[in-house]
Amino acid sequence: MNRTAVPFLMLVLMTSACATRAPVTLRPVTLAPGESLWRAARRSGVSLDALVRANPHMDPAHLRPGSVIRVAVREGWVPASWSAGSSQRQADEFIWPLRGQIESRFGQPRGARRHEGLDVKAAAGMPVRASEFGLVTLSGRMGSYGNVVIIRHPGQFVTVYAHNEQNLVQAGAWVARGQIIARVGQTGNATGPHLHFEVRRDKRPRDPLYYLPVGPPVPLRAPVARIR
Ligand SMILES: [Zn+2]
Repeated sequence: MNRTAVPFLMLVLMTSACATRAPVTLRPVTLAPGESLWRAARRSGVSLDALVRANPHMDPAHLRPGSVIRVAVREGWVPASWSAGSSQRQADEFIWPLRGQIESRFGQPRGARRHEGLDVKAAAGMPVRASEFGLVTLSGRMGSYGNVVIIRHPGQFVTVYAHNEQNLVQAGAWVARGQIIARVGQTGNATGPHLHFEVRRDKRPRDPLYYLPVGPPVPLRAPVARIR
């Protein structure tokens, strides 16, 4: 073994020892304008579930840009880079599908079940936009959902847009983030015009407020011209 290899070996041994012993600390993270909890978790190098666990009293509906949350990290640990070339490609960013008042939140009891989405009240005919770019996997009528559009995104994400007066896209179409895909209605099991919006990941319904920018619905960006 030459002279340079010895310090290198020691460094490797010390690094691996530190990785197992480093204490977990809670680090404050300030939410940026337009940022979602999911995005804040990604830039902090933790999973969304870990972020939610580290903030047991957090209510996503009350967060605003500038709100401080916590992430649990190991000291000395460097977040993994989220390179564009990664095979584990993620959906990049979700936007509010329309502006309006939140009528009913995720998880609220619905008889024997729980509400699997977020209801946003809006006037009939208002445009509903794709929350993220993706492939329309269903556009049609489906029981209590009424007219519904379902879009698949990278990273095992699916978004659902229900009770539409009219669907404006067809299954098999690629849509851009912000593209108008439907008009607000009250088809299916709805008492008034609103959008029922769901975010599913790995087929499991998740609270859309974890993925949408914090604070009141933000102005929508102009639709991008090309699908990536
Ligand atoms: Zn609903």
